[in-house]
Amino acid sequence: MSTVAAVGYVIAFSLFILGLMGLTSPRTAVRGNWTAAAGMGVAIVSTLLLPGMGDWWLIVLGLVLGTVVGVPAARRVKMTAMPQMVALFNGVGGGAVALIAWVEFRDTFGYLGLPLYVAVASLFAAIIGSVSFWGSLVAFGKLQAWLPTRPVTIGVLHRPLTLVALAAAGAYAIVVMTGSTSEWLVIGVLVASAFFGVLMVLPIGGADMPVVISLLNAATGLSAAAMGLALDNTALIVAGMLVGASGSILTNLMAKAMNRSLLAILAGGFGGTGGQVTGRVDDRPVRSTSASDAAIQLAYANRVVVVPGYGMAVAQAQHAVREMADLLEGKGVEVSYAVHPVAGRMPGHMNVLLAEANVPYESLKDLDESNALLPQADVALVIGANDVVNPAARTDSSSPIYGMPVLDVVSSRSVIVLKRSTGAGFAGIDNELFADPKTSMLFGDAKSSVSEVVSELKDL
Ligand code: NAP
Repeated sequence: MSTVAAVGYVIAFSLFILGLMGLTSPRTAVRGNWTAAAGMGVAIVSTLLLPGMGDWWLIVLGLVLGTVVGVPAARRVKMTAMPQMVALFNGVGGGAVALIAWVEFRDTFGYLGLPLYVAVASLFAAIIGSVSFWGSLVAFGKLQAWLPTRPVTIGVLHRPLTLVALAAAGAYAIVVMTGSTSEWLVIGVLVASAFFGVLMVLPIGGADMPVVISLLNAATGLSAAAMGLALDNTALIVAGMLVGASGSILTNLMAKAMNRSLLAILAGGFGGTGGQVTGRVDDRPVRSTSASDAAIQLAYANRVVVVPGYGMAVAQAQHAVREMADLLEGKGVEVSYAVHPVAGRMPGHMNVLLAEANVPYESLKDLDESNALLPQADVALVIGANDVVNPAARTDSSSPIYGMPVLDVVSSRSVIVLKRSTGAGFAGIDNELFADPKTSMLFGDAKSSVSEVVSELKDL
């Protein structure tokens, strides 16, 4: 490797690590993202400076195509569609690794004269890259509702076939490692892994997709690192390991915050049920309120804790929420935001939306801070959140979300819930909170309801 390229790589790695550190806080996240992107820019230029680079037109074509497709897609994507965007980008990374592994096999005439570890790393990359590409495409299809979001299986044969696909990919790879140079074997590895990826993700409910995407993302990182080992490319090894490690940590944190084991998620069958519209919870009536009553209740409170959830994201109500908070603060009410780690559909979903509406970071409280604050709140204003405030997680050991840490909104003096019905959220289960004597429901789209509360507050 040339000295210039080596120095470039060290700069790139430092920028990646600084970028990741920036992503640990909403305040520094945008800068962190730009830092890591700059690191990737330096890594690409350094790679292009490596000896033996050729086919410049192809390289430029690739860069232009990637930019033309990637930039507008990332700019236009709605916040609620971000998980599927990540799935697609991640899948493309895995697909690229799988293709590079195939090219490497052809270029070296079946790893002729190369140490065994090159074949092992390359075939490992081919398997994981292909699984990640096809699995991510299925995840994208489910989240985009192009495929059924419910768990899909092909009957009793599903699990055995999934295992056969994985075993076939492994078997083809072993035959290649023992010295066979038939290209069909590598194609077999890629195709069998593709079947495994598709069959693995299909039975998982749309609701668990963000965790699956995070897992596949970690897998893509590992496959890139393995490919880096095979190609003797330090940049791929380091970048791949960073993605693999951070993706694994994120997957673990998400699974923990949802109180689901990774195995249970991969076993499938959870979520994707959609909410049913009823006016009662378990035959217990719920109390509804109006925007004007809610506005009065809020205006005369000392302390209000806003609990945002997925519904706020769907309704894009964050700007109206900020306006409402400004009006309340103008009336001397202390407003803070209780942010549950898995509120919404991706990690940091609520932080990003509230930051977009310029809500000060100091007002955002994490789970523990919020649960300490809620007993002193006069009103807990739940905006499009459901599972993350479901008391069943604390009280009902038969509930699928039992044990999941939740925001204890019933500990506040009163609760107002803004949603369109008493229907279920992501987990597909009833919520006793709606029938609690402390709770009143303001039915309707979150943005319209908050906007109505805002105009009522202006008249008070
Ligand atoms: P949730 O339990 O999914 O509930 C969201 C609620 O929003 C729904 O019950 C829905 O009720 C309401 N809603 C939808 N559109 C609305 C609109 N336009 N206006 C008002 N309300 C609307 O959401 P959550 O409490 O935020 O919990 C998130 C769930 O996602 C958790 O179970 C979590 O485990 C899961 N999850 C999160 C992540 C993550 O990384 N954040 C990843 C995977 C899974 P109506 O239909 O009655 O309006």
